Amino acid sequence: MFDVKKIREEFPILNQQIYGKPLVYLDNGATAQKPKSVIEIIDVLHNKLNANIHRGVHYLSEQCTEQYEQARGRICRFLNAASPREIVFTSGTTASINLVAYSYGQLSINQGDNVIVSEMEHHADIVSWQLVCAMRGAELRVLPFEDDGRLAVEKLPQLMDERTKIVCVTQASNVLGTTPDLKYVINVAHSAGVPVLVDGAQGVVHGGVDVRELDCDFYVFSGHKLYGPTGIGVLYAKEKWLEQMPPFMGGGDMVKTVTFAHTDYAELPLKFEAGTSNYIGAIGLGEAVNFLQGLDMTSVAEHENRLLQLATEKLSTIDGLRIYGNCPNKCAIVSFTVEGTHPYDLGMIMDKMGVAVRTGTHCAEPIMTHYGLTGMIRASFAMYNTEDEIGTLYDSVVKAVSMLR
Ligand code: PMP
Repeated sequence: MFDVKKIREEFPILNQQIYGKPLVYLDNGATAQKPKSVIEIIDVLHNKLNANIHRGVHYLSEQCTEQYEQARGRICRFLNAASPREIVFTSGTTASINLVAYSYGQLSINQGDNVIVSEMEHHADIVSWQLVCAMRGAELRVLPFEDDGRLAVEKLPQLMDERTKIVCVTQASNVLGTTPDLKYVINVAHSAGVPVLVDGAQGVVHGGVDVRELDCDFYVFSGHKLYGPTGIGVLYAKEKWLEQMPPFMGGGDMVKTVTFAHTDYAELPLKFEAGTSNYIGAIGLGEAVNFLQGLDMTSVAEHENRLLQLATEKLSTIDGLRIYGNCPNKCAIVSFTVEGTHPYDLGMIMDKMGVAVRTGTHCAEPIMTHYGLTGMIRASFAMYNTEDEIGTLYDSVVKAVSMLR
């Protein structure tokens, strides 16, 4: 049996009161809380080991460099990438997608080409491509989803043509919880020789990924949603792409030799890590991965699914409440509205009861437009949430609705 009480002991922030009520943290889709081991390693690094990496011959610099590269190796194994050369540290999902958009865009996207994104993408996977399409004279095409939240992947073949240069799809929608059929998307795209970028920001924490098995070309995620630190993220890319793509940013650490006439770039992955990287964050992320690998991830997933089902069942009994995204295999996210109430008002009253949920467009405005809404409430669950907390979630919605109506 999954021991949620024991897990909660690893997350000190959970043990506190907000407005005199026990904190019920259900905003994990925005950022997850950190286990003690991650907090401690960051503390140790700042107190005892800090020195800039890759540059010094002195003890502290060598120690930090070694731990940084060990963290890269750990992430490589966690994703089952072929080599640490395929793991680029960035500041997060947004930075990873922008890196691919600008760099792959410069390599491959030209006037008259097109880029396909799904209708359920986060703004990070829409706006970056919009910018690059505008710059290169390409067209942005949209793979739609159905009202139940299912991504209409069967429409991909007709959307693609010989000018399609990349297909970008989320592993899990941060609003609908939908986990699209990525295998199908990748098969269709690859059969036309088109690479696929998978946004793993929400998916990586709910079940992880095997990038070689999936065969995606690019996979991106943020450390802070995976129980790791903020300001660190990962770009996995097949080596063949990283070799061909030009650097996204120039600066220190990404070069071999520099003259005013010419620069030779560093080997992969450093070619894409210009400047002082967030090495403390990267080492913290390595620790978060270590923490996860010490758990039975199957029982974590079962626990999160139980919470999802319980929340769905209970919330569905509330008069006028509508849940968006009802696909099988959805991840532990419930987004909803309640007739006659505004999501912000609901969220603010729930907050006074200690319940932290997200309100608004969730950086996925096209999903709101799809349903003719301006916002939703989102409760997103993590391994440390409990069935009792789902009860509190339900009670807080009922109370807030009765106050507002
Ligand atoms: N994609 C998805 C699916 C997300 O949920 C998020 C975060 N809400 C992002 C991208 C962007 O992540 P970050 O802000 O950490 O760069």
